[in-house]
Amino acid sequence: MTKSGADHLNSLDDGRCVLIDGAQVPCVTTDPGFRNAARSVASLYDFQSAPENVERMTFAVPGTGRRVNRAWQLPTSYAELVQRREALVAWAELHHGFMGRSPDHVASTLGAMFMGQHIYAAHAGGRPNAVRDYYEYARDNDLYVTYVVIDPQGDRSKSTTQGANAGVAVAIVDEDSEGITIRGAKMLGTGAALSNELMVTTLRPLNPEDSHLAFTVVVPIGLKGLKLLSRRSYEQSATSEFDYPLSSRYDENDALIYFDDCKVPWERVFVHRDPIAQLAQWHETPAHSYQNYQSAIRLMVKLRFLLGLARRIAETNGTTAFPSVMQTLGELAADAAMIEAFVFGMEAKGQQYGPYFVPDRGLLYAAQVQAQRLYPRMVTAIRELAGGGLIMLPSSVADLVNPDIARLIWRTQHGAIGSGMDRVKLMKLAWDALGSEFGSRHLQYEMFYSGPRTTTAGMAHRTCNWSAAEAGVDAMLAGFDVPTL
Ligand SMILES: Cc1cc2nc3c(=O)[nH]c(=O)nc-3n(C[C@H](O)[C@H](O)[C@H](O)COP(=O)(O)OP(=O)(O)OC[C@H]3O[C@@H](n4cnc5c(N)ncnc54)[C@H](O)[C@@H]3O)c2cc1C
Repeated sequence: MTKSGADHLNSLDDGRCVLIDGAQVPCVTTDPGFRNAARSVASLYDFQSAPENVERMTFAVPGTGRRVNRAWQLPTSYAELVQRREALVAWAELHHGFMGRSPDHVASTLGAMFMGQHIYAAHAGGRPNAVRDYYEYARDNDLYVTYVVIDPQGDRSKSTTQGANAGVAVAIVDEDSEGITIRGAKMLGTGAALSNELMVTTLRPLNPEDSHLAFTVVVPIGLKGLKLLSRRSYEQSATSEFDYPLSSRYDENDALIYFDDCKVPWERVFVHRDPIAQLAQWHETPAHSYQNYQSAIRLMVKLRFLLGLARRIAETNGTTAFPSVMQTLGELAADAAMIEAFVFGMEAKGQQYGPYFVPDRGLLYAAQVQAQRLYPRMVTAIRELAGGGLIMLPSSVADLVNPDIARLIWRTQHGAIGSGMDRVKLMKLAWDALGSEFGSRHLQYEMFYSGPRTTTAGMAHRTCNWSAAEAGVDAMLAGFDVPTL
């Protein structure tokens, strides 16, 4: 049986400790701060288990034959990579790219770590059997896994162990024959409250003396001592689906995670006290690039949606024939097409990694740098196209059911196309995508989910083929000299 939405919702009722607005949430599937987003995740599993989608969205697990999402698939050829991408696109289209840490994200990380088991085996602190067994377990159960890879922001002028930073980030505080005990915090568990399990790890390089920080584990969200300190719920503050069509459905949540002396069994430990292995698992396996390739696919879908919004706003405002508006729409189309081109390019330039076929890393890092620049630019450009229409809106759906107020609204809301209702719905949707608290968080997400710009540009710098770039310069320089007199 393929995993269904009901299976997923049932799996979330595990006593997890989600803290919000001064209290613990009894159950995320019924709580007004989380339930709609939980249903949106569930709808992904319902989609994959619909008979007409099973082949497109799932593959048969070797051995058991159970069908699970293609996010777990390990492509061995270009054709399989594309087939997997088509499944990821179909999922992203269900939320229009607004759920950044959907289950296919960390499934990609885990699949790529599995591909790179030999990297773990090459280091004293690497535990390849745990990686293999966990990947198979998570795949076979089609788990939704999220992750936290960053230390809480404190004083970035000091290291994790210096000054007021000391003792805040999660660290190994004890270990015995059964496993390790971890204590401290990590940011930011996007989607964690809606997921089954959480990977806890560190992405940045660590010093040799920081071996207590150098570990990678995966734990159930319901683990004793694991606490999710949720940010404000935009879903809960969305007054209605009509007023906030995106916030009310796709608020995947972000939480600071605190590990209050959590015991983790050895079979869940991928890296143990080894700063070199800790870093190598990201960059010597395809983990980092394969997970972010999923992000680029999701962003491609989201930008197509934003492009559609931009066009419909201009059509509604009757501005599509103005040359400056055509220029703006053309530039937006080019920005959206750039990410699409990167996705296709990463695949076309993909390489074998052992028996597996993986997307090109260099193009992935180039895509991240471009994405961080273009998303804020696109949001600003669409707001510029929209003008005051994003704000000239009824205060809430309640205005529309009061006949006296509704009469005035329908006399004043109109556009070059469609009805007054079409305009109100469109502008409410656009505001939620671009300007509401939810829309604003999305701007922050796209600017930071892959790290600050200094980090993404650093990776683009490291993976650039500088000698190929300089070869042309050398050839040119060799071709002329001071003329002999
Ligand atoms: C909405 C959202 C969702 C997220 N979801 C997740 C998630 O699911 N899992 C997860 O692990 N993480 C998540 N994150 C965290 C994300 O990975 C980090 O925000 C990102 O890596 C940047 O780290 P930081 O926020 O500590 O910013 P910092 O590293 O503190 O950077 C902030 C700014 O400080 C300056 N700066 C800092 N250091 C330097 C430097 N060395 N050189 C030059 N300038 C510097 C730059 O201006 C930089 O833009 C999420 C973040 C956001 C905003």
